[in-house]
Amino acid sequence: MPGKDDDKPNLPDPEEITRRLSDFFRTSFGDKVTFSAVNDVADPFSTEVSGGGEHHDLRSEDTFSKVLGFDLIPREIKDHLDRYVIRQDEAKKALAIAVCDHYHHAAFLKRLADSDPSAARRIEFAKQNVIIVGPTGVGKTYLVKHIADLIGVPFVKADATKFSETGYVGGDVDDLVRELVRKADGDVELAQYGIIYLDEIDKIASSPNSGGRDVSGRGVQTTLLKLMEETEVPVRNPQDMQSQMQAMFEMSRTGKSVRETINTRHILFVVSGAFSGLEKIIESRLHRGPIGFATGETAALPGEENRAKEPVTQDFIDFGFEAEFIGRLPVRVVCEPLEAGDLFDIMKHSEGSLIRQYEREFEAYGIRAEFTDEALRMIAEEGARERTGARGLMTVCERLFRQFKFELPGTSVTELRVTGELVADPSGALARLLENAAPLGDSRMVAEISAFSRRFEGDHGVRLAFDSGAVARLSDLVSSSGKSVPEICSERFRDFQFGLQLIRKNTGQTSFPVTAEAVDDPDKYLSNLVVASYRE
Ligand code: ADP
Repeated sequence: MPGKDDDKPNLPDPEEITRRLSDFFRTSFGDKVTFSAVNDVADPFSTEVSGGGEHHDLRSEDTFSKVLGFDLIPREIKDHLDRYVIRQDEAKKALAIAVCDHYHHAAFLKRLADSDPSAARRIEFAKQNVIIVGPTGVGKTYLVKHIADLIGVPFVKADATKFSETGYVGGDVDDLVRELVRKADGDVELAQYGIIYLDEIDKIASSPNSGGRDVSGRGVQTTLLKLMEETEVPVRNPQDMQSQMQAMFEMSRTGKSVRETINTRHILFVVSGAFSGLEKIIESRLHRGPIGFATGETAALPGEENRAKEPVTQDFIDFGFEAEFIGRLPVRVVCEPLEAGDLFDIMKHSEGSLIRQYEREFEAYGIRAEFTDEALRMIAEEGARERTGARGLMTVCERLFRQFKFELPGTSVTELRVTGELVADPSGALARLLENAAPLGDSRMVAEISAFSRRFEGDHGVRLAFDSGAVARLSDLVSSSGKSVPEICSERFRDFQFGLQLIRKNTGQTSFPVTAEAVDDPDKYLSNLVVASYRE
């Protein structure tokens, strides 16, 4: 039967088109050509103007100010890192210097290229790519990520092992560079000054002693080498048919092609790995001495011992790297393993501490979590036993707090004091907390009440600790009056701070339990408290 849609062609929906095209490309060209429905690639059938070239032109001013205006000194970078990263002082210094040299040089060349392009091309440039040796979870990625954030350049991290598993490697490695463009919101110019971080680089060593891969490892090293030097990477993956088609559509629409390639000359490469077995290579070099004799006690002068233990080019070659590859990574950095004391410092002092995260997570349920130093020490010791650096802390905390996060939200508990006792016996501590807790239908109510209490404490330096009876009474008032929690609390506890501050002066008390009776008759409650404080 002819319908009302008769005059329209019967087009399948976009997903169906993508599926059909994808099948078509697979059968025609095999698995190496992909047709992906990537969300941030504009719809090739759309007539809307897409991102691409225009996007990056709009942003180029930003780029120039970031790269041209680079004026940090190594100490400033280290100071910034000190706020987040505990220990790793030598690594911080070496990285800070490498990064300053790199971006000063890039800024200099950019200015020169604007005034005298041929002079800029003639300048020799040895890039300060970095290799970081260190066990897992000690801050290697964290350091580099914070540097990238500080400078404002895009940062991409990948595992080197990813590239050795496939038979062909070129396409994948180039994808790292394209990912920088994505991280720079399509700004190709900025992507050219980004940082690429490759972890597990030790796994692409080619020596059988290193436990790495053999022939394919060498292949990956060669491909990476090109990238680390200088090469042009197509902005669009030649294997990805959709992006090619998009380019084609853009060209036919605008009559000009968008920027085609990304130059890798100023991309900073940082590679890292645990390099297990490297210490043995270093040890045996130190014992061999410069001319092949055992050097015995003359091996190192006091204070120089650690420097002597730093890996040198030959150690990496013995480990299984090609000399050309390791030669492109002139900055060698060692990150130390973290001990329990360091893990304590991370929780207590680092701005990105996991403990802040837990405080925020509990706070979302209206629970104020507070950690004693004793508890942090015990968590740190347990974390260190995991032998995964600071990652051990995440494992321990997750195990420790899982039941608390499940059981406490939705109850009248608004405070969680994490003490040594709690860490030693979490189930016992949880049971005791729940014993005095009333279940609450509405956890949002609890969250709102504790938000009021926090504000009050912030403004006046005294704390109102609402018990479950008070929470239940406030809940009734909210439903009967139609007013909000902050409205009711502000009405009932107006000017409370004056009385409470007086009590604090008399007795030193800073936290005041608020009961159902206090909600019912706040004035009587307060005056009783004040009178009692004079009697003490
Ligand atoms: P890796 O050394 O394996 O690259 P990461 O840098 O990714 O380890 O560390 C994992 C997490 O552990 C980081 O996100 C950070 O929260 C924490 N962390 C690791 N080392 C430190 C450190 N030295 N100081 C502060 N936090 C750290």
